[in-house]
Amino acid sequence: MDNVDAAEIRKFEALASRWWDPNSEFKSLHDINPLRMNYISQNINLAGKTVLDIGCGGGILAEAMAHHGAKVTAIDLAEASLSVARLHQLESKLDIEYQKNSAENLAASTPQSFDIVTCLEMLEHVPAPASVIQACYDLLKPAGIAFFSTINRNPKSYLFAILGAEYILNLLPRGTHTYAKFIKPSELANWCRRSGLQLTDQIGMGYNPLTKKYFLQKNIDVNYIACYCRPEQ
Ligand code: SAH
Repeated sequence: MDNVDAAEIRKFEALASRWWDPNSEFKSLHDINPLRMNYISQNINLAGKTVLDIGCGGGILAEAMAHHGAKVTAIDLAEASLSVARLHQLESKLDIEYQKNSAENLAASTPQSFDIVTCLEMLEHVPAPASVIQACYDLLKPAGIAFFSTINRNPKSYLFAILGAEYILNLLPRGTHTYAKFIKPSELANWCRRSGLQLTDQIGMGYNPLTKKYFLQKNIDVNYIACYCRPEQ
């Protein structure tokens, strides 16, 4: 059985035409993109690196990484999102290969192929996040680096990421996230450790509703990005 939730894919397919509209349902992803891009490039120089972006959607992050000189492969299971990503690429002309594929499937056919793997805002949408994480380990070359971002699970994250973001501030469509699928940093760390990945750094992301700006912060109670590495051997 594939590690995919068909209802989640349908949800993203229904919105796909709006991936590149910065005022659409994807506004938050556009707004946080420069922050997470900075975080990634502070941890590793992307120029000339092979990068796999898992759950790429319309290619917002994939394009930003290609702008930084990475040779990007980007996968998703939502066909409509991939079509939008490819259309946008006709204009941007960036070095990205879009594929309809799962991380697990790609790991089985091309293990140890990437210097960097990114899997942002995706793990909380799959039935078995640990299986994606194992695939990330398998896909990385020795000494490769993986970036994961997701949402912590605790009363504060319920308040901020579901009630606040979906019901009060309307930053995201209602039903975007399911509380039970949020992932504690300790759970992410356990799955990563079991796969062989080692934590190198993690950082939180916050939102100020008055200025309507996102920012990176030490606090990882709600949104966070983690950087893991596959040891040399
Ligand atoms: N990573 C992008 C998009 C996040 S939205 C960004 O942060 O900008 C989550 C994406 O994961 C959607 O595009 C959805 O189609 C994709 N997705 C969900 N389950 C998936 C799976 N099992 N394999 C690959 N992609 C998946």
